[in-house]
Amino acid sequence: MARVILLPGTDKRTRSGHPWVYLTQVGDVEGELTAGDVVEVFSAQGRFLGRGYANPSSQIFTRLLTRRRDEAIDREFFRRRLEAAAAYRQKVVKDTTAYRLVNAEADFLPALVVDRYGDFLAVQFLALGMDGFKPIIINLLIEMFAPHGIYERSDAGVRAREGLQPFSGPLYGETPKFVMMNENGVRYRVDLHTGQKTGFFLDQRENRQAVSELAAGARVLDCFCYTGGFAISAARAGAGSVLAVDSSGSALELAAQNAALNEVDDRCTFREANSFDELRGLADSGEQYDLVVLDPPAFTKSKEALAGAVRGYKEINLRALKLLVTGGYLATCSCSYHLGEALFLEIIAAAARDARRTLRLVEFRRQARDHPALLEVPETYYLKCGVFQVF
Ligand code: SAH
Repeated sequence: MARVILLPGTDKRTRSGHPWVYLTQVGDVEGELTAGDVVEVFSAQGRFLGRGYANPSSQIFTRLLTRRRDEAIDREFFRRRLEAAAAYRQKVVKDTTAYRLVNAEADFLPALVVDRYGDFLAVQFLALGMDGFKPIIINLLIEMFAPHGIYERSDAGVRAREGLQPFSGPLYGETPKFVMMNENGVRYRVDLHTGQKTGFFLDQRENRQAVSELAAGARVLDCFCYTGGFAISAARAGAGSVLAVDSSGSALELAAQNAALNEVDDRCTFREANSFDELRGLADSGEQYDLVVLDPPAFTKSKEALAGAVRGYKEINLRALKLLVTGGYLATCSCSYHLGEALFLEIIAAAARDARRTLRLVEFRRQARDHPALLEVPETYYLKCGVFQVF
């Protein structure tokens, strides 16, 4: 096994549990190394830091799989990791047939995502080294969880940084395009082949539940609704009317089907539009709402584009605040990792000042518990959801 020796003074983050060893940290590689191989990582002083897979052509040279010197990376290793991931979900996941079974780095299986939709699994292999373990992992998933089918959705852009082509397709068993899930008593039809992410925004499950508790009798506006997650759960919780907006026609088609499936189609209207324009148009025509949900896509995927993203978040929050009645509620989200919690709150406060509204914090929420984050790995915490009452 090749040995990776870090440059002096570059091991602090690695010692505190961050699994990514950057190319810039690497001083020397001893022994033969083929991309995807498991290597051992040592500090400049010769201290063992961990064992992980390497990709010399990625900025992330190694992703550590274990920090224990006596732990081999073999089939049993992956079985233990998968068992631990499943045991954790047994504790924290409730009232749903769909959830994230493996959340990559935060389950100590870097670059591996496994989402469960009832009897079907959707998987993502997002780094070269993890891709090499695909046969073992798929075999274990079949043995441990007995799914009816497994579909791969490794079509995320991050694969390019690992020198990998996007891939999407069936890996095992039956893999119908549409599968059903039931979350908090709401049924959704999910596009397993071409839906966004792996088909559903599972990370918002607990937030959908929390927000739906504010929906009884409300006039609801759900901007960036995708296949109707917040909209339909609000309608099921007794919302008087729901207008839901998205720019994706295919997402809206499913949203409309989902509304019918849950017998709330009489109260839900879906509109294909740019949410920025729609928010402006609704304000111009004097519309008012009791509950507005903002769940936009990440406005930035890099630090460099942060300023533009800040303007985007400010604008939609400002426009949403203008539409809310006194005593109404705003549920506003950001899944941009580069936009931290403090800055997000500042943006919302600035929007409130401009709109001359006072916001009372009901609760500040994060990604659901089946998407855990590691304290020392900031990249694993990305989803913020502020719930405010507006005065
Ligand atoms: N709230 C949803 C997830 C939203 S994901 C749920 O609970 O399932 C973000 C959505 O924003 C995607 O569906 C995407 O199609 C949509 N989107 C992206 N840019 C948009 C824009 N400018 N206007 C409206 N929708 C947009």
